[in-house]
Amino acid sequence: MLKVNLGNTGLSVSTVGMGVLPIGPGQLALPLEDGAEIICHAVKKGINFIDTAQYYRTYPYIKRALEILSTSREEDRRAAESLIICSKSLARDYDGMMAAIRQAISELHRPFIDIFLMHEVRTGGFEERKGAWQALIDARNSGLVKAIGVSTHHVDVTEQMASEPECDVVFSLINYASMGIRRGSGAASCHDMLSAIKACRDAGKGVFTMKVFGGGNLTGNYQKALDYVFSKEEIQSVMIGFGHKSEIDDIVSYLDGTMPADYNPDTSQKKMRISQEDCEGCGSCMKVCASKAIFYNKNGLAEIDQTRCLTCGYCSYACPVRAVIRY
Ligand code: SF4
Ligand code: SF4
Repeated sequence: MLKVNLGNTGLSVSTVGMGVLPIGPGQLALPLEDGAEIICHAVKKGINFIDTAQYYRTYPYIKRALEILSTSREEDRRAAESLIICSKSLARDYDGMMAAIRQAISELHRPFIDIFLMHEVRTGGFEERKGAWQALIDARNSGLVKAIGVSTHHVDVTEQMASEPECDVVFSLINYASMGIRRGSGAASCHDMLSAIKACRDAGKGVFTMKVFGGGNLTGNYQKALDYVFSKEEIQSVMIGFGHKSEIDDIVSYLDGTMPADYNPDTSQKKMRISQEDCEGCGSCMKVCASKAIFYNKNGLAEIDQTRCLTCGYCSYACPVRAVIRY
């Protein structure tokens, strides 16, 4: 798979990365060996860029995959050695972020983490989390981390990072349908986000993106969704959550041009869930759910009763922050 130099970081990453959230306890909760096998499959297919987070609780899968690959054939061992791992934390202060970095290093059994980010930065959040940002700077200066940055769904935060001198990489949300793209407390378009991404690239930042399928809701337009991101030269790598080996094979087939023009993956077995990390409890999803499958949990956030859900997907379109996921 094609590799690119991620901004000015000196890190060479595949143009598709693997998000490991789907294999972990928040989604499919795969047994350790099964989840690790999917990561190994991705690596063997040429993917060397892995996205995780403190919140995902998926470090054991990555560690196990590295162990398996280290005892495999020479080619796989070399691939494992070139793996670029990106993690991130929702920590808001210095100590919390430094602890998150040390936890990742310890649980992954690595001497350092290639990329560490402030996770899910919203409008105004960068200023509010200055302590966490300082921890990232200090961790990079002491060699615990190679490159630092933010993950965000927000156009304004992406724009802000273009002029933030210490920021090396930006991990932003973009898809052709503009699902989940935000500016302040309102919605924004993929055109706005692309302009912000371009400003980051012009400033030498590495840029990779998330939610090409809008949290699974655009999978019915699989190739259209991929065509959009892969036609934008500003986007250096596209991070995609994989929970099955067949999903990795599909991407490889798309990239090598062997995918039939009318192909769409079978999503009939998928379920809907609401990301507790992203939900803001606004209730918009509940208003459109004719099955009354969505309720407020004890944290005041929306949750789906799977026994009532018809997987119609209407709630995902009603959600302003793309918290409804099909997996
Ligand atoms: S997918 Fe449809 S039925 Fe299920 S929770 Fe959403 S709106 Fe309700
Ligand atoms: S619409 Fe989205 S943010 Fe609002 S309650 Fe539903 S899932 Fe949460």
